[in-house]
Amino acid sequence: MIGVEQISRRGFFAAGAVGAAMVGVGGFGAVSRQADAAFVRPPGASSGAEVVAACDRCQKCLQACPYGIVTPVPLAESLVAYGTPMLSFRNGCCDFCMQCVDACPTGALAYGGPAERDLGVAVVVKDACVAWDWAGCTVCKDECPVEGAITLDDHDRPVVHPEYCDGCGKCEQVCPSASLRAYNAAASDRGIVVVSRASEAAQATGAVPSAELASKRTVAVPRGSEAAPHTKGVHPDGPDATREAGGIS
Ligand code: SF4
Ligand code: SF4
Ligand code: SF4
Repeated sequence: MIGVEQISRRGFFAAGAVGAAMVGVGGFGAVSRQADAAFVRPPGASSGAEVVAACDRCQKCLQACPYGIVTPVPLAESLVAYGTPMLSFRNGCCDFCMQCVDACPTGALAYGGPAERDLGVAVVVKDACVAWDWAGCTVCKDECPVEGAITLDDHDRPVVHPEYCDGCGKCEQVCPSASLRAYNAAASDRGIVVVSRASEAAQATGAVPSAELASKRTVAVPRGSEAAPHTKGVHPDGPDATREAGGIS
């Protein structure tokens, strides 16, 4: 596990004056909390703090991703994690091609361990999902590439099974919720959203309201209480799809 002292050494060099300013503004406690913020990271990223410490903000992973889903953490989201890679599934999803991992020169993204095949977990947003709020949509379940990751309940509403879901983001990408509902600025624009397993949002069971998703999405739970990684789902598109989650050859 990487400590704040190590973050302050290498991560601050990468974050530059912004990271240094944080120490003055909020002390190492604020630095540690921001470094731990639970963003959805590319494959092979370990804890938030370790990514912040190891990443040089060179953006080679962003350039390598063929789907353009790797994006830098915005300054408004975190001063300390600013510029490190996170995933956005608005226009694409991850097929575990591992080109971002291959491109990473520092080991911030690396092969080995559960994070290699586990980006996060999808959560259903009950006031944004058309099936939960009303009826008649099963797009996420139909499009999910991992068998068993989404099933329908007795009311034909999607239910995510975290032990199968690998956080690939296909469901979030294709969810048509915003185009099927009346505009509501208070509701999420997707009925299903991938969050980090280290986030408070990942601890929720069943569907969560938009406000709860917004307040818990990047708030990290204490180390050791993260939601368990998926152990059953196998993504069909990856180059070695026969390998079980977290398996290392
Ligand atoms: S594994 Fe491939 S698709 Fe997924 S984020 Fe990395 S480069 Fe993009
Ligand atoms: S695709 Fe979106 S709106 Fe449709 S059932 Fe899934 S989460 Fe709900
Ligand atoms: S993130 Fe991927 S595996 Fe998980 S429910 Fe959505 S589409 Fe299925």
